[in-house]
Amino acid sequence: MNDILPPESARWEWLEAKVRGLMARYAYRNIRTPIVEPTPLFVRGLGEVTDIVEKEMYSFEDRLNGEHLTLRPEATAGVVRAVAEHSMLYDGGKRLYYMGPMFRHERPQRGRYRQFHQIGAEALGFPGAEVDAELILLAQSLWRELGLQNVRLELNSLGEPDERKAHRAALIDYFEKNAELLDEEARRRLHSNPLRILDTKNPAMQGLVEAAPRLIDFLGEESLAHFDAVKAILTANGVAWTVNPRLVRGMDYYNLTVFEFITDQLGSQGTICGGGRYDYLIEQIGGKVAPAVGWALGVERVLELLKEQASAVPALVPDAYAVIPGVAALPVAVSTIEGLRAAGISVQMHAAPAGGEGMGSMKSQFKKADASGARYALIFGEDELARGMVVVKSLRDGAGGAQAEHPLAAVAQWASTLQSNS
Ligand code: ATP
Ligand code: MG
Repeated sequence: MNDILPPESARWEWLEAKVRGLMARYAYRNIRTPIVEPTPLFVRGLGEVTDIVEKEMYSFEDRLNGEHLTLRPEATAGVVRAVAEHSMLYDGGKRLYYMGPMFRHERPQRGRYRQFHQIGAEALGFPGAEVDAELILLAQSLWRELGLQNVRLELNSLGEPDERKAHRAALIDYFEKNAELLDEEARRRLHSNPLRILDTKNPAMQGLVEAAPRLIDFLGEESLAHFDAVKAILTANGVAWTVNPRLVRGMDYYNLTVFEFITDQLGSQGTICGGGRYDYLIEQIGGKVAPAVGWALGVERVLELLKEQASAVPALVPDAYAVIPGVAALPVAVSTIEGLRAAGISVQMHAAPAGGEGMGSMKSQFKKADASGARYALIFGEDELARGMVVVKSLRDGAGGAQAEHPLAAVAQWASTLQSNS
């Protein structure tokens, strides 16, 4: 679990602002659900025989009533619970998005943390392939907006439950014939959830998994038509994709379309976003049956990839730094600064240093002004204040930066000259 500190936190805010803007353009609305949910929600929703439920959940008993609770390992189950609980689909489908921390008890490594953050989009109440495609286009637009490169899209279709049943039998048969190649976990899952074996992270089993019966070969006409419709919309919109018949995702709730955005630049934690259709989840957790589709991206991994690609993320710098030579100037200086802030200018106020006397030397104040990255210094010198003026000095055009005086009483008239161009 990590502390996210400045200046790193500015990268997070930048990403979140991009996401908010984009979600608004796709007409997805923000939803905020609790971090803690009843444990059975995840067990029923994600599936008993999944990595998350078997070994990754932070679960505990409520001290007072013994209720079993879990820190959310993902947000789809909670969103679906909320949608059902508030009958949100009574007047038609809903497009939602969320951002926030998730918790999984994993072995920490690069790109894999115990508290990590997801941004997710969910469209509930829509059965058509156009919404699967919309969600994928939304993610693709986000990569473009962030300047992310080298992200590829893998697609698969998990079909419908009856199609899965036939595949499951073939899968069990295949794995039984190769039982000596299964690791302990796979052997345990062979009869409870053989599909999960395809999602193994054990490199020794990759060959076996590659050659396993493909779910896609068991799909009927309707499932294939849905898949084709998604692919056609993506292709028409210039989105490159490949079909990965082994892509099954880590939760049991998916059907039909599943997808992942993957990069080769983050080592083995290369999946930055994953999602798919989950038409049976709402019913499974006690709501009225309704189709749905969604995805979640890993914020840490996306930011790490941006770093890897040396993408420039705008740094947060104030427009101006207020240099205040003496404490006597504080009342007037602060009210001027407040006026500028009210006019939309960001101002970092010099504050008295610890262990020093007064406001500190002019030299040390200008050093701080430079370090702040501000374009201008506001200098509240005694003589100028006596004349009702403040000096604005440019910090960015070399030594002897241009200087101008402005009236303290008319901040609104000159505030905009301090606005940075960005
Ligand atoms: P993985 O296969 O890497 O374990 P997952 O299938 O468990 O991923 P999802 O549950 O689909 O992941 O979550 C969506 C995204 O959230 C992932 O693609 C990844 O970017 C991110 N993510 C998942 N687990 C973690 C984690 N422990 N730390 C950081 N990011 C994570
Ligand atoms: Mg995982």
